[in-house]
Amino acid sequence: MPAFTRLFPGLLASLFLVCGCGTLPRAGRPEPRQGDEIVAAGRFFHTGARVVLWLDPGGYDAYRVERRFAPLAKSDWEDSKAELKTLNSPNRYGLRRAGLTTNEIERVRGGGWDLPLLQRTVDQFVLHFDVAGTSRNCFRVLQDDRDLSVHFLLDLDGTIYQTLDLKERASHATIANDRSVGVEIANIGAYPVGGKNPFAEWYRTNTTGQTRITIPERFGESGIRTPHFIGHPARNEPVRGSIHGEEYVQFDFTPEQYAALTQLTASLCRIFPRLKCQYPVDANGQLIRRKLSATEFENYHGVLGHFHVQEDKDDPGPAMDWDRVIGGAQRILGLEPPKKAASGPLLTPRARDLRR
Ligand SMILES: [Zn+2]
Repeated sequence: MPAFTRLFPGLLASLFLVCGCGTLPRAGRPEPRQGDEIVAAGRFFHTGARVVLWLDPGGYDAYRVERRFAPLAKSDWEDSKAELKTLNSPNRYGLRRAGLTTNEIERVRGGGWDLPLLQRTVDQFVLHFDVAGTSRNCFRVLQDDRDLSVHFLLDLDGTIYQTLDLKERASHATIANDRSVGVEIANIGAYPVGGKNPFAEWYRTNTTGQTRITIPERFGESGIRTPHFIGHPARNEPVRGSIHGEEYVQFDFTPEQYAALTQLTASLCRIFPRLKCQYPVDANGQLIRRKLSATEFENYHGVLGHFHVQEDKDDPGPAMDWDRVIGGAQRILGLEPPKKAASGPLLTPRARDLRR
């Protein structure tokens, strides 16, 4: 030890503090965020899309027990429970238990997830349309009326809202809840061909012939963050297609929603290695348009629709452009498209769009 240090040990320590040679950040220094981060097991991950967390101003917080849009004096849990028979629990979410040992459940029951355990648990990403039209209205229905939850809401302008850490078991897709992450995409939904639908209220045609989305005035504040945003379906005409053997019609999602969903899908597939960047296809590489069998569902690790999980659901509907989302996410991830169509059911993504 040099004589200087022996004589002045305190001085040396002070020099480190003064010159900032240490690695500790200054107490109270704000940590910058870029506004595209999502949260998994307490860690932040970039998505490249605009994200509003439940922690942020204007966010939707599914951890809260009171109703978000009820009159404040009547919003707490006791009043909410008394007023609405549909609300059963102050917690709209639960614990991901499936596949965990007793010791692991004991460790995470208070929230103590680590990322490797969550990565072992999550292997599905379930797409929904919200039939609420906007994310604000969707959160109102989930939180205030239905006792339900979902990790992400995707608004018409492409803003993603995260309402819970991905470690939570959100209540959005029954048997998939334990192993999945869910997103509710703002869209008024799909309807049987020839039957009633709300399209006249939600969609108008411009003088130029372009279809635009018109949120009914009775919804009040739309909550859409982009000033003066006017949404247009990615395809001008309603899209027809079959789900569970029934013919449905639906207006497409917006280009802003497709762009954000693609970024989010790529991000989730990178964060969760067991979640493969694919969607359910048959032996010919075509989208499966029905509920998966119990075995298919058990063995499926990837992106899927709510209708793949339950026979009583038709979302995200015939308009969902799976190739646009999955192909785009594969490009972001640098994945090679398969050389030929799938040789077996379910496990190979259809990726013809990758070549365009
Ligand atoms: Zn759904």
